[in-house]
Amino acid sequence: MENKLRFIPKMDELMKDSEIIRFREELSDNTVLGVLREETENLRECIQNKGTPVEDRVAAAAWVKQRAIQRLQGKKTDRLKRVINATGVILHTNLGRAPLSREAAAKVSEVVSGYNNLEYSVSEGNRRSRMFYVEELLKELTGAEAALAVNNNAAAVFLAMRALCKGKEVILSRGEIVEIGDSFRISEIIRESGCILREAGATNRTNIGDYESLICENTAALLKIHRSNFRIVGFTGEAGASELVELSRKYPQNRPLVIEDMGSGILEDLSKHGMKYERTVRDALHDGVDVVTFSGDKVLGGPQAGVIAGKKKYVDLMRKNQMYRCLRLDKMCLAALEATLWQYARGDYQNIPVLKSLFETEESVHEKAGRLNTMLSGLVGIHCYAGPHTAMSGGGALPGEPIGSSAVFIAVPGVPASDIDSYLRNQTVPIIATITDGEVILDARTVDEGDFGYIRDVCTGLKDIART
Ligand SMILES: *Cc1c(COP(=O)(O)O)cnc(C)c1O
Repeated sequence: MENKLRFIPKMDELMKDSEIIRFREELSDNTVLGVLREETENLRECIQNKGTPVEDRVAAAAWVKQRAIQRLQGKKTDRLKRVINATGVILHTNLGRAPLSREAAAKVSEVVSGYNNLEYSVSEGNRRSRMFYVEELLKELTGAEAALAVNNNAAAVFLAMRALCKGKEVILSRGEIVEIGDSFRISEIIRESGCILREAGATNRTNIGDYESLICENTAALLKIHRSNFRIVGFTGEAGASELVELSRKYPQNRPLVIEDMGSGILEDLSKHGMKYERTVRDALHDGVDVVTFSGDKVLGGPQAGVIAGKKKYVDLMRKNQMYRCLRLDKMCLAALEATLWQYARGDYQNIPVLKSLFETEESVHEKAGRLNTMLSGLVGIHCYAGPHTAMSGGGALPGEPIGSSAVFIAVPGVPASDIDSYLRNQTVPIIATITDGEVILDARTVDEGDFGYIRDVCTGLKDIART
């Protein structure tokens, strides 16, 4: 055994190996060194406890190297990177929600690569609010008197509660106590903001009288929260925002505000683009809602942000609140948000990826899936066909409406679907598929046609996993 311990390779020799050097360049010297140390330590233990797994110096080095490379490959694969979303879920929270438009991404890169005029008017040579154009554009697009954007919609709700309702009561329907994911609940965020939550009505039914019975001198707001990620069916009823506005106006001396968390915040009438009508931000403000909040990276199709739009008096209070400083947007988000809003202002919806995916007709997706299928069906060892599939808006965006779509269904004889799925994931640009009934599914609605060639190249390798 003593002898065999001498086979253990030297760290500096391993570090000079050409394959290892590649990982030093892509990760860091320390990361690589850490993994190599652990694997040489493993080898030492193997030799000491289980007898030797290696017979000479060369085999020992190969043993360590092979195991280290496998782990380093894993580390490299898991770095934050672009992936191809073939799940058919348009707003996939695990996959970064809305992809930015090319224009927005280019703007971010241009603005942040050097100095920029984040809080400076170039034309006038003096300080200017970082929110200047975002606010101008939001006013134009929603009809709001004023607007503001913060870190995300949860922050927007928090700031609205904190700045407008702190220490007072906020009335919310029991049917709208939403968990937004990862066990975060809007109701808890409201409590954290220092407000007292009063729950109105029952889970399935809340009428205007339920709100009215809770109104007192200490009521600051009637809150409406969009049921983005669930639906209540059966014996149901709710009071609409305009009813809440009407109710609040019955108390002119001490009028409770009406605040609406719209979830997605739709800026364009979806029914003009072949979809079901969804209430827009403009509609909500038109109904007399005082303040609305919504996410920047859901249907809007921009960066993570929480947008606030409403009456100037209240937006100003939010802007002046000390918490705003903790929640404000940075230059990257602002560059992306502003660029996306300019696209809305021009009606350039086709170049906002989320809207493109939502608006694409079923026939068009069907043809697209057909083209991908044609590219894949020629490959050796693969069985595939194109067929109907169901896409989803996802991300708590539009409540659960399935979206007709088409997909390519892939099988490799003798290979479990989970192995195919794992192979597609473990690529330089991972391809994220789904599995149903033993078939691997690539939904064409969320895949950019520009990626078809890459997908074909990756799938060429599937014949090799069949052999191993
Ligand atoms: C998604 C959602 C949120 C949370 O938005 P983030 O931008 O993720 O913070 C809050 N409220 C509703 C109704 C939502 O749908």
